[in-house]
Amino acid sequence: VFPPTPKPKWLRVKLPVGQKYTELRGLVDKYKLNTICASGSCPNMGECWGEGTATFMILGNICTRSCGFCGVKTGRPENVDWEEPEKVARSIKIMNIKHAVITSVDRDDLKDMGTIIWAETVKAIRRMNPKTTLETLIPDFQGSEKHLDKIIEVAPEVVSHNIETVRRLTREVRIQAKYDRSLAVLKYLKEQGLNRTKSGIMLGLGETEEEVIQTLHDLKDAKVDVVTIGQYLQPSKKHLPVKEFITPEQFAKYEKIGKELGFIHVESGPLVRSSYHAEKHIH
Ligand code: SF4
Ligand code: SF4
Repeated sequence: VFPPTPKPKWLRVKLPVGQKYTELRGLVDKYKLNTICASGSCPNMGECWGEGTATFMILGNICTRSCGFCGVKTGRPENVDWEEPEKVARSIKIMNIKHAVITSVDRDDLKDMGTIIWAETVKAIRRMNPKTTLETLIPDFQGSEKHLDKIIEVAPEVVSHNIETVRRLTREVRIQAKYDRSLAVLKYLKEQGLNRTKSGIMLGLGETEEEVIQTLHDLKDAKVDVVTIGQYLQPSKKHLPVKEFITPEQFAKYEKIGKELGFIHVESGPLVRSSYHAEKHIH
């Protein structure tokens, strides 16, 4: 049986409820809309969809990287779908989404690393949904300023890039990424004048409290505005095991430390995902 260990009670999945959720679920099924919320069966769907927030993935669903925590398939990605920006914009309109989070697989195979589709998607969403606010949860684009500039030019309300774990575990958790490169990406985004930058950490992979606090300091030094901290859950037996279930009290402690460090917003709790309460991270 998977997962092998029973989850503590604070991780018990909340059943998505609410009229808005039921309505959106119907639309998503009818039009086969591609949200991470539904495809990843995110436990926060009732709440997020009820508030008009949803997450969409672009550039296909096969990634060139193979992070040990991530449930996305690895391999040779599909060809770029040039109609994707319009399709995503249309989904947002159909679902009447107030705050959309856009993310993608990593496309290290493409010369532009997918940044053309990224920028076109933001533009198409704005054209079709002028009132919708946007968060782009971007890859590191291998730290290339030229590629990051493509995102900066279209200036989404929030730009996030997840550090995911502490320095010591980075090699094991996201083999093709680098801790310092992610920090440099975040710093560059803010220094180029973006309104809000954001980063996320998963806990339960074997990190110590001291290391988590150090990561918060590093994110602060990289001028990050908003931090999310959540529990890592193993997507399948092949993925990294959960070393520890962090208690709600410990999450609350990190939240307090984060606030004292001066982040504008800290979202810390067992069920927190980087797009959880995302609509609150723009103000
Ligand atoms: Fe969707 Fe993110 Fe909310 Fe989960 S936390 S339902 S993935 S917007
Ligand atoms: Fe998953 Fe992103 Fe890593 Fe690809 S780069 S495996 S999508 S976390």
